[in-house]
Amino acid sequence: MKILLVEDSRVIAMVTSARLESFGHQVQHAISGQLALDLFQQEPFDLILMDIEMPGMDGFETTRRLRALEGQEPLAWTPIIFVTATDTPTNLVTAIEAGGDDFISKSVPEAVLQAKMKAMSRIAALRTSLFQANIKLQDQANRDGLTGILNRRAMDVQVDRLWKLAETAGNPFSLLMIDVDNFKKYNDHYGHQAGDECLKLVARCLEDNLQQPGINVPTKGIFVTRYGGEEFAVIIPDALPGVHAEVAVRLVKAVAALEIAHEKNCDFGVVTISVGAACFDHVQGEIKEIFRQADQLLYKAKEGGRNRAEWLAA
Ligand code: GH3
Ligand code: MG
Ligand code: MG
Ligand code: MG
Repeated sequence: MKILLVEDSRVIAMVTSARLESFGHQVQHAISGQLALDLFQQEPFDLILMDIEMPGMDGFETTRRLRALEGQEPLAWTPIIFVTATDTPTNLVTAIEAGGDDFISKSVPEAVLQAKMKAMSRIAALRTSLFQANIKLQDQANRDGLTGILNRRAMDVQVDRLWKLAETAGNPFSLLMIDVDNFKKYNDHYGHQAGDECLKLVARCLEDNLQQPGINVPTKGIFVTRYGGEEFAVIIPDALPGVHAEVAVRLVKAVAALEIAHEKNCDFGVVTISVGAACFDHVQGEIKEIFRQADQLLYKAKEGGRNRAEWLAA
């Protein structure tokens, strides 16, 4: 385990560190409560061993502040064991109430310390696997099951963030609404399973063509999501005027260039998309207005014959 040892006595710290290291743990020493808080904010620990009596900020206060730093996030919790010379019932109660998890005496026998550390190692391993499972779950919650690209939920969070940023810092962003042309006919003609495969290919193609190799268009942070059904959306943070149109045209061409046969997409014979490209600079009012503008432009692209993009001139 990676242990943070908070102890104002250098001698005790040296002795304790040596014992813990002999059990195979890594120990970092903080000589004061303040230093412990600083280290805690810099890196994660599996366990904190906390002295009570220290000049300045004592162990109780340090623990309260550590817990406040962790906030409400349950997985941010780090076990804290108080280690003290005066293991009175009052101290124990205060220690637990301050946010501590256990209490041991400085004169604890070697075997007991080792056993306690073994128990804490099990908890540390459990925390690690919970943390990893949580990351995996969060990722799954943000991905579309069919295509593997980000889903609408993930997009809504980002659009919300970008809208606020655009309002406060004036960074414009763009929203491209993409719809596969005559896709109902594709399903009817080739079957639903083929339709699914087609959506996967289109998603991959969109993702692969977000960035133009060799051309340094400022599209850092650009991403594509499955908005729902056969509709996709692309978000371009910090898009300079014209970039959204350039990306939209490129995506229309890239999908047509896949040459996925679609007999019933009459004018083209292959799968195509239509795109409505909206930009924050052309929108007033609430966040839903940028979606409305993208939808209107998409509708215009459909009316205009499909396999094309529409945007507003700057
Ligand atoms: P338009 O060019 O006007 O967009 O015509 P369209 O046929 O694409 O539009 P419409 O909205 O009428 O049809 C969308 C179709 O997309 C209907 C639905 O069955 C199909 N679809 C939506 N989600 C999926 C999916 O996950 N898999 C498959 N295979 N089809 C889907
Ligand atoms: Mg002390
Ligand atoms: Mg549609
Ligand atoms: Mg469609």
